[in-house]
Amino acid sequence: MRLSITSFLIEVSNQNRYDLERLTIIYSQKLPMKGNCLCKAVAIEAQPEKEVSVCHCGMCRRWGGGPLLCVHGGSQVRIEGIENVTTYKSSEWAERGFCRLCGTHLFYKFMQGNEYILPVGIFQEDSDFELKEQIFIDQKPSYYSFSNPTENLTEAEVFAKYAPPAIE
Ligand SMILES: [Zn+2]
Ligand SMILES: [Zn+2]
Repeated sequence: MRLSITSFLIEVSNQNRYDLERLTIIYSQKLPMKGNCLCKAVAIEAQPEKEVSVCHCGMCRRWGGGPLLCVHGGSQVRIEGIENVTTYKSSEWAERGFCRLCGTHLFYKFMQGNEYILPVGIFQEDSDFELKEQIFIDQKPSYYSFSNPTENLTEAEVFAKYAPPAIE
């Protein structure tokens, strides 16, 4: 294989850019978001996330009495008081966690990959959240609606965008 000088230079500069991005991420890392349930038996820490999504699906509305407003917590979530968390497997691929003492909803977790979706309401020290996206918009009942300008996805669009092929 013959590597031309231009492609070599491109590779080197991409490598540098990657290192620089990584350094920027390391140095700009903020303190984790901290939240807790009503009775404070459970505390949750996650990496800072500003973008809030709303889920209008029937399961979320049944679970919480209204749409679920949540942030993406990733897989690096720290839970204190885990002995007070009860989980309910709500589908083949996810479970929902709540405080067994006060009932506060704590997370929606994809079992594969350990990805947490966290109700934004448990994080009340952070106030600069921004409503970015509404999912399962086609399942939203007509008696409420958010006026925030957001990206709106139907059920089919959500599965096309987020679902791994295995669970389609
Ligand atoms: Zn509690
Ligand atoms: Zn939902």
